[in-house]
Amino acid sequence: MPLTLLQDLRSLLFPHYCFGCGTDALPYDTSLCARCQLSLPETGFFQQTDNPVAASFIGRIPIVQAGAGYFYTKESLLQELLQQLKYKQQPVIGKVLGRYIGYMLAESPLYASIDVLLPLPLNAKKLHIRGYNQAAEICTGISEVWQKPVLTHVLERTMHTETQTNKNRLSRWQNMQGSFRVWDTAAIQGKHVLLVDDVITTGATLEACGEIILAVPDTQLSIAAVAWTI
Ligand SMILES: [Zn+2]
Repeated sequence: MPLTLLQDLRSLLFPHYCFGCGTDALPYDTSLCARCQLSLPETGFFQQTDNPVAASFIGRIPIVQAGAGYFYTKESLLQELLQQLKYKQQPVIGKVLGRYIGYMLAESPLYASIDVLLPLPLNAKKLHIRGYNQAAEICTGISEVWQKPVLTHVLERTMHTETQTNKNRLSRWQNMQGSFRVWDTAAIQGKHVLLVDDVITTGATLEACGEIILAVPDTQLSIAAVAWTI
């Protein structure tokens, strides 16, 4: 059967609509029409070493590069998409947004030395409830257009309880709902790691996770997200 016919049949059997505007005039392998994609506010940060995301990590953690693909604003299409990704069981949005920033990363010489993609992990409970890690979905989308391996087994995010916490070591890390552990140090030793998340707000979680990654000998760390909150 010719491919176009197969695609027509597919869209007949599985009609799907743009998450942004609802049109059904869109390719079968995406969830956002071209017009909605173009309406997302690009930052251009992946082409700049000196950008607000990178600046926000200065003095906190030694990174090679950091950036986000889009500006995140309230009541925007991007906010709606990210909410659907996180809370409405729409992992496909992660792949779509991942492909968009994947193209940006692939085009940028600043990120050419990246070896592996690491999604910021969820703790086991959250992963069980949601059924997927949105950052891993984003990584899958990135790797579809930028051939870098995604390592989902390397990091673990654990829950911690107050009683297990040594008060003297109660640092800012533990203000988050968990802490991080590297399961497979060999997988990232000597590598330039790109740690990926959906949105960067304070960056505290990425910072805590990044510290653990950088504790592995000879690793380098860069950070990428879909969106940056202004
Ligand atoms: Zn649309």
